[in-house]
Amino acid sequence: MVFEKNIEIKNFINGEWTRELLGDTSPLFDPSTGDLIGSVPLSSTETSRAATKAAKEAFPSWKATPLPKRMDLIFDLITALKANFEDLAQSIAFDQGKHISEARGEVSRVIDIVQMNCSIPSLLQGTTIQNISEQINGRVIRAPIGVFCGVAPFNFPALVFGWFIPVAIACGNTFVYKPSSESPLFMQLMMTILSDIGLPKGVVNVVHGDKEVVESWYDDPSVSGICLVGSTPTAKAIASGCGRTGKKTMLLGGAKNFLLAMDDAPLDALVQNILMSSFGAAGQRCLAVSNVIATPGIHDQLVEKLLENAPKIRLGDARDKSVSMGPVISKQALERIHRYIEDGEKSGAKLVLDGRNPELHQDNRNGYFIGPTIFTNVDPSHRIAQEEIFGPVLSILQAGCIDSALKIINSHPMGNGAVIFTQNNFYTERFIEKAETGMIGVNVGICAPHPYMPFGGIKDSLVGNNKVQGQDAITFFTQNKAVTLKTLDPMEAITDNLGNAEITSCVAS
Ligand code: NAD
Repeated sequence: MVFEKNIEIKNFINGEWTRELLGDTSPLFDPSTGDLIGSVPLSSTETSRAATKAAKEAFPSWKATPLPKRMDLIFDLITALKANFEDLAQSIAFDQGKHISEARGEVSRVIDIVQMNCSIPSLLQGTTIQNISEQINGRVIRAPIGVFCGVAPFNFPALVFGWFIPVAIACGNTFVYKPSSESPLFMQLMMTILSDIGLPKGVVNVVHGDKEVVESWYDDPSVSGICLVGSTPTAKAIASGCGRTGKKTMLLGGAKNFLLAMDDAPLDALVQNILMSSFGAAGQRCLAVSNVIATPGIHDQLVEKLLENAPKIRLGDARDKSVSMGPVISKQALERIHRYIEDGEKSGAKLVLDGRNPELHQDNRNGYFIGPTIFTNVDPSHRIAQEEIFGPVLSILQAGCIDSALKIINSHPMGNGAVIFTQNNFYTERFIEKAETGMIGVNVGICAPHPYMPFGGIKDSLVGNNKVQGQDAITFFTQNKAVTLKTLDPMEAITDNLGNAEITSCVAS
């Protein structure tokens, strides 16, 4: 599919495509060219409430739909994702500017995540304990909850859909989703696909817009819970809104990830992994390595090798297979990244590779491009080492030993991911035990856990304690009920709590 300009993004409510009644929109740009390519509805509270109402009305019959029928939808979704693979990947390259090879990687990952839901019948099973007292058995059952709302960041339009919606509906809930207004195209395709495979109306609804859409859910009695993948300030704002009205939350926040390179790390593998994880997706990944800490025996060689290889990364249009790095999401993001580079220079760090003003094809000169950028001599207190830049800017710090490196990592307020490169088992185990992050990698550049494992950080990278993927997601999207069940003998009188043998079983009658 070739995406044309003048894309009109629409809401999808109760099985129907709708435009925002008041007609307010925000512009949609192609980050590779800077061209205006369409408009996105800025939905009102009324529209948002219409979506939650539709989800609420769809809930009873969806909840009562037998599990094998809900599973049919998941199986058909997997088939449809495979059949529409290339169009979905192209949609991400078009409005998010993710390089096409990385966009394909994102859609592949979504298929893996949706496949996890094929195990839902086992994951939803409850437990029983027989004979916990005389004639008494215990039983724990899992049940759907109601309407969940999801809020997505711009950088993973497909992945975040995969994390929230298939598992929530497989568990028997209904859903309202707000994509990022900067990358809404994937969900436009996805809702067509879901509709085509027979999604009952109201089970998944999409409302585009700004934070006002999310804020309308805090007091909405139809909504049971809100999930977000986004920055930490947004996660905290939603926690506060939901805390007021007692809604459930799953809130994945921002990140500042460290990679620790020990003296004995295999240099070539280390360099390749840093290039991929720091500059892949133009640094706009929550598991991107943004700070490398090198021990003294490897520091100089590592810097030398990075400076030899990073400038070879070619920038260009996200759809162009001959380049390997696309743009960042917007002009504002590009300007923010430039400000961080200026700040790094002022703070005394050494700018050894400057990615500003890269060489580009003439068609892409208005796009939002910045090439790999590297600072050495970075102190942990520098803003470039402290704050989430969300661009291809790498800081290299030094530490004398593993414990000083861990001190730097653990003193950072965020705790999403951390990675160590070493062949030494002692360092590996110490790192796994002591690094205060929710995801840990050993000799891998990006420590993204498999869909069966929980995905999420700790400290300021996760607000609350609920994570996506695996059993954690099932736990979040279901409520359990503990049943205490006494079997009555129809022939016997039973005693009340005070031991009076007066109440007679009515089962016999
Ligand atoms: P963002 O926080 O600006 O926006 C995320 C979503 O929240 C958008 O849909 C936006 O419209 C909405 N939003 C913004 N402000 C809001 C508010 N005050 N109240 C309610 N909703 C609000 O994030 P972004 O710039 O789109 O995405 C990048 C951020 O997402 C980075 O911080 C990145 O680390 C994070 N992220 C985290 C993970 C993870 O797994 N932890 C994964 C991907 C991205």
